[in-house]
Amino acid sequence: MRLFKFFSFIKERKELISDFEEYLILSGFGISFSEEILKVFKKRGERGVREFLMDSMKDASKELSEDNFSVYLFSGVNGSGKTTCIAKIGNMFKRKGEKVLFISGDTFRAGATEQLTIWGERLNIDVFSGKKGADPASVVYDGIVYGRNRNFTRILVDTAGRLQNKKNLMMELGKIRRVIEKLSKVTESILVLDSTDGENLFSQVEKFKDAASVTGIVLTKIDSTIKPGAIVPIFLKFKIPILFLGTGEGVDDIETFNPRDFVDSLISPFFS
Ligand code: GDP
Repeated sequence: MRLFKFFSFIKERKELISDFEEYLILSGFGISFSEEILKVFKKRGERGVREFLMDSMKDASKELSEDNFSVYLFSGVNGSGKTTCIAKIGNMFKRKGEKVLFISGDTFRAGATEQLTIWGERLNIDVFSGKKGADPASVVYDGIVYGRNRNFTRILVDTAGRLQNKKNLMMELGKIRRVIEKLSKVTESILVLDSTDGENLFSQVEKFKDAASVTGIVLTKIDSTIKPGAIVPIFLKFKIPILFLGTGEGVDDIETFNPRDFVDSLISPFFS
């Protein structure tokens, strides 16, 4: 009888470990990082895992930097939530009494400028844009001059959504950054990542971080992702801090990144 109980305990524990492994992989942690977490779990249980993840993410949050005259450059792949994110952050600044300008550096897609213009109208924020097909870097340059001469204090620059494997587009992003730097410091270069992309985010960060000299990440669609775990190994690899989480499609659906709450949201669904 005692032996039977022992075997059933072993079986339950094995099942728990294999369920947890599956949970970690499905949550986007990736195979090798999931194995690391699993090792901690076997030795130190749920509490150990929480401590391990907390320790991994303790330096992952960062407050958005601000200068008297601030320029923010936004980059990311198409559909990552870049335009929505610009609207959300622009609105935050406006509420604080800043004079906000959006610049549309996407001269390829008419829809992109249109979308930013719609947000601008909705939020009562000015939008600077160039002609379709114009050189994006020169439109951005003109936009910054425009903003500076009219006493705007917060300038948010949208860039064309690009695939990280399109070399010339990535080079153009670098050019936009250098052009801005002729006129002003880039206060933050913000990479917008769609959290539903899970492990695919590795290659996005890899390419964008140098092309745009990224200083902070906004992780969008956290309300609809099943793979939020991917950000942990991404942070450990690239050490780029997270500024905000996008939590919905509305302009107020944005939160500062809190590592403790984030780790809790990663782990609690399994243990509760
Ligand atoms: P862009 O192509 O990178 O500029 O992406 P958009 O800003 O146009 O966003 C693409 C889609 O994602 C739109 O339908 C947005 O409403 C949606 N979206 C953006 N951010 C979020 C978010 O945090 N949560 C959810 N659920 N949807 C979002």
